[in-house]
Amino acid sequence: MKWEENVRKVVPYVPGEQPNRPDMVKLNTNECPYPPAPGVEKVMREFDYSKLRLYPDTQATALAEALAEYYGVKKEQVFVGVGSDDVLAMSFLTFFNSDRPILFPDITYSFYDVWAELFKIPYKTIPLSEDFRIVPEDYKVENGGVIFPNPNAPTGILESLDHIEEIIKANQDVVVIVDEAYIDFGGESALPLLEKYENVLVVQTFSKSRAMAGSRIGFAIGNEKLISYLNDAKFSFNSYTMDSLTIQLGAAAVKDDEYFKEITGKVVKTREWTKEELKKLGFSFEDSKSNFIFATHKERKAEDIFNYLKSKDIFVRYFKKPRIDNYLRISIGTDKEMEILIRELTAYLKGAEND
Ligand code: PMP
Repeated sequence: MKWEENVRKVVPYVPGEQPNRPDMVKLNTNECPYPPAPGVEKVMREFDYSKLRLYPDTQATALAEALAEYYGVKKEQVFVGVGSDDVLAMSFLTFFNSDRPILFPDITYSFYDVWAELFKIPYKTIPLSEDFRIVPEDYKVENGGVIFPNPNAPTGILESLDHIEEIIKANQDVVVIVDEAYIDFGGESALPLLEKYENVLVVQTFSKSRAMAGSRIGFAIGNEKLISYLNDAKFSFNSYTMDSLTIQLGAAAVKDDEYFKEITGKVVKTREWTKEELKKLGFSFEDSKSNFIFATHKERKAEDIFNYLKSKDIFVRYFKKPRIDNYLRISIGTDKEMEILIRELTAYLKGAEND
């Protein structure tokens, strides 16, 4: 068909499935197994629905101010969006506008190449080392920008701040984006580096550590100038991104630091227990500092384990991609959910011995 010739064609990102079965154990999209902070429920109950008649605050001031206070930066250094996917997409559009390729790891968040294709940004993937580490030396080549998650996804591996700084130091003529979707589970944020480098953007999300994936809140913190460029792009695209209820819910979540520490602490504790149990079952993995474990089994194929677990209504994530097609990404749920997982894995591996 002639009209199809000029259609913008993209191969879209495929999110983890969102099944909704009564007793399922859902460990496939790195959500938080606990509810959001109690203050979030209060705001929801007390929200005056008649306000929905009005457009929301385009700057999401209440949320931006709460974040600025929490992270000790100016409100003008904060940009919020509908999940960090929205913030990252806007950042690709704004900052990656060079003829030179942007750089990101070969094994990483699988949305990066989708945005690059969508916006026609040239890109080059940099292979992780054999043991899945980001090698700073490899990022010392000419480029139009750099982006990587820390901890990386789906490996869960955290790089030290020294490593991150080495990459930033070598790339001060382009924007470097550090995607910290999983930083709150034991990582050290690159936020302090903002004082030294004006070309760094740190992106985080409420979807994991703040238990609000359903609300879609993400944010970026950076130099005021970077943020003002981001706002220019946003206001040229869709000025009313975040709805008025979500702005208030997000602000309430940020204000309850005690609850935030409690739930992230619980996830970390459960993660460490799960690591021990998986090891006993013959799984191996690099050390994870995120809310998931990226594991491979010495004898059984990841895809077979994935299918078996699915038949038991336990959902984990499997990526059929080069280098990682024998790994499972297992999100950390409640203690009870992880016990069910371990029980089913034990049964499967025992049964497997006999076949
Ligand atoms: N970055 C990374 C590395 C992720 O794994 C995810 C989760 N899919 C995101 C960003 C986006 O998260 P959200 O849009 O829910 O904030």
